[in-house]
Amino acid sequence: MTGILSAMPEEISHLLNQMTVKNTIEKGQRTYYQGLLFGQECVLAFSRWGKVAAATTTTQMINLYPISNIIFSGVAGALQTNLNIGDIVLATKVFQYDMDASPLFAPMEIPLINQSGFDTDHDERLLFALTNFVQEFDKMLGKNAEYFNINQPKLHRGIVVSGDQFVHTIEQQQKILKLAPKALCAEMEGAAVAQVCYEYDIPFDLIRIISDKADDTSPIDFPKFTKQIAGKYTTYILKNYLTNLGLADF
Ligand code: SAH
Repeated sequence: MTGILSAMPEEISHLLNQMTVKNTIEKGQRTYYQGLLFGQECVLAFSRWGKVAAATTTTQMINLYPISNIIFSGVAGALQTNLNIGDIVLATKVFQYDMDASPLFAPMEIPLINQSGFDTDHDERLLFALTNFVQEFDKMLGKNAEYFNINQPKLHRGIVVSGDQFVHTIEQQQKILKLAPKALCAEMEGAAVAQVCYEYDIPFDLIRIISDKADDTSPIDFPKFTKQIAGKYTTYILKNYLTNLGLADF
């Protein structure tokens, strides 16, 4: 059973519209929806925001259902100049940039598990679904995307960093990039979910859509972007992933 976690309520409602829900569990102020999504057994939940919230939602999901893999999706702020709003990042490795137990451990190292970053699962089917989405973008979201001047989003693969702050200044960006110079984008959940998945031995992949440039334009771009299009992206991508049929049709 695939676990799907999203950091966006907008995305959850898009996905719920497509899901045949068989069972719903409410626990710890979270709702877990289990059922068929594009023909596959899935559990869907809103992660909530920040590392603790997302880790808690993940742990509960794993304890409630026989989860075989987890896909997390959400939006993120770009940390590199070649990333634009609307681009998609498929994480290869994730770090908690605000974990710092030095001098006991190296900055970003997670105490007791002897590692700092977490590798993602690198599921080839997900890469295929994303590549297909980017190629067919115009057919899927063309008009919706015009407002944000998104013509042809690019797919990037690389490092994603998580921390409990909404990055919206160049100073914050510089601090993060000093620790993780190759980080493509910053968000608030991914590496926490990755830690839980590592500890429970569950394959984990992370998709982030760039919603802002993690600078002083962030608060302006961000709400508009999430409301108007980000939620739709994931539904198309997951349809591609779950059915492996290519073009979405809704
Ligand atoms: N959706 C809310 C805000 C959610 S908090 C609103 O409309 O006000 C921010 C969410 O966006 C988190 O899930 C976080 O992972 C992601 N995010 C997007 N841009 C970010 C940035 N620049 N810095 C940190 N997190 C960011």
